[in-house]
Amino acid sequence: MVLDSPGAPLREAELPAPEPAPGEVLVAVGACGVCRTDLHVVDGELPDPKLPLVPGHQIVGRVVEPGERFDPDARVGIPWLGWTCGECRYCLSGRENLCDRARFTGYQLDGGYAELVAADERFCFPMPEGYDDLQAAPLLCAGLIGYRALRLAGDAERLGLYGFGASAHIVTQVALHEGRRVFAFTRAGDDGAQAFARELGVVWAGDSLGPPPEELDAAIVFAPIGELVPSALAAVAKGGTVVCAGIHMSDIPSFPYELLWGERVVRSVANLTRRDGEEFLELAPRVPVRTEVEAFRLAQANEALDRLRAGEIRGAAVLEVGASAD
Ligand SMILES: [Zn+2]
Ligand SMILES: [Zn+2]
Repeated sequence: MVLDSPGAPLREAELPAPEPAPGEVLVAVGACGVCRTDLHVVDGELPDPKLPLVPGHQIVGRVVEPGERFDPDARVGIPWLGWTCGECRYCLSGRENLCDRARFTGYQLDGGYAELVAADERFCFPMPEGYDDLQAAPLLCAGLIGYRALRLAGDAERLGLYGFGASAHIVTQVALHEGRRVFAFTRAGDDGAQAFARELGVVWAGDSLGPPPEELDAAIVFAPIGELVPSALAAVAKGGTVVCAGIHMSDIPSFPYELLWGERVVRSVANLTRRDGEEFLELAPRVPVRTEVEAFRLAQANEALDRLRAGEIRGAAVLEVGASAD
């Protein structure tokens, strides 16, 4: 499924098989998660995508042309971070997620809305047992960028999650496993999302612009809505952190300094490091994280994106690509 120009629907196309460059593996895609970032790319909210582009950066598949690191038929995951320079001050200080020259899967590199994808094997992950491809795919971005956001929220005991989609449903499980209490904030009147959050064990679920039942120690804003930032700041206690987890957000309205005063912190989380991925994929089966997915066929990618844009997906949308989809 190909993006020819932002704003247009994806086009079903028959493309030549990607030719893996030295250091790359060729992977037969089993499943590819649909991420909000894909929407930002497709809708033209992120600048300068490769065009034409195959989107998708939560890819689980089998190696068909091995490199040096993975055997043939090894099951691998391909995440958003597709390549980094390895020599800049960010790369050399454990912050490859901030590399200025980083290239991202399904944005500057062709991704997983396809039957085959080539990827730099240094940035692929071995995938844990116990998850089929569909269940595993959302771990690769919703899961591991959610995990990075959770780490950046510190050791908050009372954690607010703004926007209860693919990431929040995974982060909730990890946070509960760590003994935190989770408060879920959704669009006003989104009873489905609030019920889903309660089923997963949050102590409270309610409307995102309203007050929580008690102060929070930290909040993660997954929804791409700048208005939620002052709202989350008002909800966190002194010393609390508000982590903005999306790659794109509408403008944050101005707010009184009083909301930030008291050593409150607002920060973003950008991308992932390979270390985040290794840590999270080791942790996920131990929680154990269970992903709730809604499956679509590859040719239904536009429908999956539309449903995500409308906020109609419970858990994560995933394209089922491999043999099991036939
Ligand atoms: Zn770099
Ligand atoms: Zn993503």
